[in-house]
Amino acid sequence: MNRGTIRSGGAGLFMLLGYLWASPCSIFGFLLAFLSLSGRSMRVHLGVLEIRGTPRAVLFRLFPGIESIAAVTFGHVVIGWSEAWLRWSMPHERVHVRQYEQWGVFFFPAYLFSSLWVLFRGGHPYRDNWFERMAVKEVTLPPPVKGTSLAGRDGQGF
Ligand SMILES: [Zn+2]
Repeated sequence: MNRGTIRSGGAGLFMLLGYLWASPCSIFGFLLAFLSLSGRSMRVHLGVLEIRGTPRAVLFRLFPGIESIAAVTFGHVVIGWSEAWLRWSMPHERVHVRQYEQWGVFFFPAYLFSSLWVLFRGGHPYRDNWFERMAVKEVTLPPPVKGTSLAGRDGQGF
């Protein structure tokens, strides 16, 4: 076994641990998509399960305002309302996938805490959230083109 093999083996193990560490969040995302989307289709794209479909009303009740975002990430599951929205927001959502790989199931309370903290300080619970600011800092999405299905999205996915 040469050094290259050892290195790639280590990277594979590290990747596997990332999937395992984030798996409770991925399972939650998968179940949420299964229960809340109609006309679902899914595919694996670059190691992430992308699920798109038409949101049912329950999703809007659980996450008010979610209709105004392009996609949402739970672990290694990215949920979007259309192919165009998934494609557009993909670079941003991939940053969240990496955040889940680092934080695991602790991503949920940490994200919530960050939202509550900025809200308490007079900020916006989404745009000023630490995880969103890190994602925006890392990746800048092009503005949605007017006249397309993406027009009216308020920015960076979720
Ligand atoms: Zn985001």
